[in-house]
Amino acid sequence: MAERTGGCACGAVRFKVTGPFMGVGVCHCTDCQKASGGGPNYVALAPNDAFEVTKGEARIYRSKGDSGGDVGRAFCPNCGTPLWSLPPNAPFTPIKLGALDDSSDLTPMLHLYTSSAPPWHLMHEGLPAFPKAPPGPPPMPN
Ligand SMILES: [Zn+2]
Ligand SMILES: [Zn+2]
Repeated sequence: MAERTGGCACGAVRFKVTGPFMGVGVCHCTDCQKASGGGPNYVALAPNDAFEVTKGEARIYRSKGDSGGDVGRAFCPNCGTPLWSLPPNAPFTPIKLGALDDSSDLTPMLHLYTSSAPPWHLMHEGLPAFPKAPPGPPPMPN
Protein backbone atom coordinates (compact mmCIF):
# COMPACT_ATOMS: atom_id res chain seq x y z
CA MET A 1 0.00 0.00 0.00
CA ALA A 2 1.19 3.47 -0.77
CA GLU A 3 1.65 5.85 2.10
CA ARG A 4 -1.65 7.20 3.38
CA THR A 5 -2.05 10.67 4.85
CA GLY A 6 -4.59 12.46 6.97
CA GLY A 7 -5.22 15.29 9.35
CA CYS A 8 -7.73 17.59 10.97
CA ALA A 9 -10.05 20.13 9.36
CA CYS A 10 -7.80 23.16 9.96
CA GLY A 11 -4.54 21.46 8.97
CA ALA A 12 -2.75 22.03 12.29
CA VAL A 13 -2.33 18.28 12.88
CA ARG A 14 -1.18 15.95 10.10
CA PHE A 15 -0.18 12.31 10.14
CA LYS A 16 0.80 9.48 7.86
CA VAL A 17 0.33 5.73 7.81
CA THR A 18 3.05 3.75 6.08
CA GLY A 19 1.70 0.20 6.33
CA PRO A 20 -1.55 -1.63 5.58
CA PHE A 21 -4.39 -1.31 8.06
CA MET A 22 -5.12 -4.32 10.27
CA GLY A 23 -8.86 -3.88 9.89
CA VAL A 24 -11.75 -1.45 9.76
CA GLY A 25 -14.38 -1.42 12.49
CA VAL A 26 -17.61 0.39 13.25
CA CYS A 27 -17.91 1.13 16.97
CA HIS A 28 -21.27 1.97 18.52
CA CYS A 29 -20.11 2.56 22.11
CA THR A 30 -21.36 5.64 23.96
CA ASP A 31 -17.88 7.19 24.11
CA CYS A 32 -17.59 6.92 20.33
CA GLN A 33 -21.01 8.53 19.93
CA LYS A 34 -19.71 11.52 21.90
CA ALA A 35 -16.58 11.66 19.75
CA SER A 36 -18.47 11.33 16.46
CA GLY A 37 -21.35 13.67 17.21
CA GLY A 38 -23.89 10.85 17.43
CA GLY A 39 -23.18 8.25 14.78
CA PRO A 40 -21.03 5.18 15.20
CA ASN A 41 -17.31 5.65 14.92
CA TYR A 42 -15.57 4.29 11.81
CA VAL A 43 -11.97 3.43 12.56
CA ALA A 44 -9.10 1.84 10.64
CA LEU A 45 -6.46 0.08 12.74
CA ALA A 46 -2.96 1.25 11.87
CA PRO A 47 -0.06 -0.82 13.25
CA ASN A 48 1.62 1.44 15.84
CA ASP A 49 4.99 1.31 14.06
CA ALA A 50 3.33 2.43 10.80
CA PHE A 51 1.64 5.49 12.30
CA GLU A 52 3.44 8.82 12.55
CA VAL A 53 2.38 12.37 13.37
CA THR A 54 4.02 14.63 10.79
CA LYS A 55 2.74 18.07 11.85
CA GLY A 56 1.47 19.70 15.02
CA GLU A 57 0.42 18.02 18.23
CA ALA A 58 -2.96 16.53 19.04
CA ARG A 59 -4.53 16.96 22.45
CA ILE A 60 -5.42 13.74 24.26
CA TYR A 61 -8.54 13.25 26.32
CA ARG A 62 -8.29 10.20 28.59
CA SER A 63 -11.15 8.24 30.11
CA LYS A 64 -11.78 4.76 31.51
CA GLY A 65 -12.50 2.26 28.77
CA ASP A 66 -14.61 -0.87 28.96
CA SER A 67 -11.48 -2.87 29.83
CA GLY A 68 -10.83 -0.66 32.86
CA GLY A 69 -7.72 0.84 31.28
CA ASP A 70 -7.26 4.43 30.20
CA VAL A 71 -8.39 5.10 26.64
CA GLY A 72 -7.00 8.23 25.01
CA ARG A 73 -8.79 10.14 22.28
CA ALA A 74 -6.69 12.47 20.16
CA PHE A 75 -8.23 15.60 18.70
CA CYS A 76 -7.02 18.87 17.21
CA PRO A 77 -6.68 21.55 19.92
CA ASN A 78 -7.59 24.21 17.37
CA CYS A 79 -10.52 22.84 15.34
CA GLY A 80 -11.61 19.90 17.52
CA THR A 81 -11.55 17.25 14.79
CA PRO A 82 -11.48 13.75 16.34
CA LEU A 83 -8.37 12.07 14.93
CA TRP A 84 -7.38 8.77 16.52
CA SER A 85 -7.66 6.75 19.72
CA LEU A 86 -5.11 5.27 22.08
CA PRO A 87 -6.51 2.04 23.50
CA PRO A 88 -4.51 0.57 26.41
CA ASN A 89 -1.78 -1.91 25.42
CA ALA A 90 -2.92 -2.27 21.83
CA PRO A 91 -0.47 -2.91 18.96
CA PHE A 92 -2.49 -0.59 16.75
CA THR A 93 -3.81 2.97 16.61
CA PRO A 94 -7.48 3.26 15.58
CA ILE A 95 -7.71 6.18 13.16
CA LYS A 96 -11.04 7.83 12.36
CA LEU A 97 -11.87 7.31 8.72
CA GLY A 98 -12.98 10.94 8.55
CA ALA A 99 -9.46 12.03 9.48
CA LEU A 100 -7.96 10.31 6.44
CA ASP A 101 -7.47 12.33 3.26
CA ASP A 102 -8.94 9.42 1.30
CA SER A 103 -10.82 6.46 2.79
CA SER A 104 -12.75 5.54 -0.34
CA ASP A 105 -11.00 2.19 -0.78
CA LEU A 106 -11.71 0.99 2.78
CA THR A 107 -14.50 -1.40 3.72
CA PRO A 108 -15.88 -1.89 7.25
CA MET A 109 -15.31 -5.44 8.51
CA LEU A 110 -17.36 -5.60 11.69
CA HIS A 111 -19.61 -3.78 14.12
CA LEU A 112 -18.74 -3.62 17.82
CA TYR A 113 -20.47 -2.42 20.98
CA THR A 114 -23.82 -2.76 19.21
CA SER A 115 -25.50 -3.12 22.65
CA SER A 116 -24.93 0.63 23.05
CA ALA A 117 -26.33 1.57 19.64
CA PRO A 118 -29.54 3.61 19.50
CA PRO A 119 -32.22 2.12 17.23
CA TRP A 120 -31.46 4.64 14.49
CA HIS A 121 -27.80 3.59 14.00
CA LEU A 122 -27.50 1.93 10.60
CA MET A 123 -25.89 -1.52 10.37
CA HIS A 124 -24.05 -2.80 7.31
CA GLU A 125 -25.85 -5.88 5.99
CA GLY A 126 -23.95 -9.12 6.47
CA LEU A 127 -21.17 -7.85 8.71
CA PRO A 128 -20.38 -9.60 12.00
CA ALA A 129 -21.78 -7.60 14.92
CA PHE A 130 -20.65 -7.90 18.53
CA PRO A 131 -22.60 -6.56 21.54
CA LYS A 132 -19.31 -5.55 23.21
CA ALA A 133 -15.70 -6.01 22.11
CA PRO A 134 -15.17 -8.88 19.65
CA PRO A 135 -13.51 -11.94 21.16
CA GLY A 136 -9.95 -12.81 20.19
CA PRO A 137 -7.22 -10.85 18.46
CA PRO A 138 -6.90 -8.23 17.25
CA PRO A 139 -8.30 -6.59 20.38
CA MET A 140 -10.57 -3.89 19.05
CA PRO A 141 -10.69 -0.44 20.60
CA ASN A 142 -13.83 0.77 22.28
ZN1 LIG B 1 -7.32 21.31 13.36
ZN1 LIG C 1 -16.35 3.01 20.65
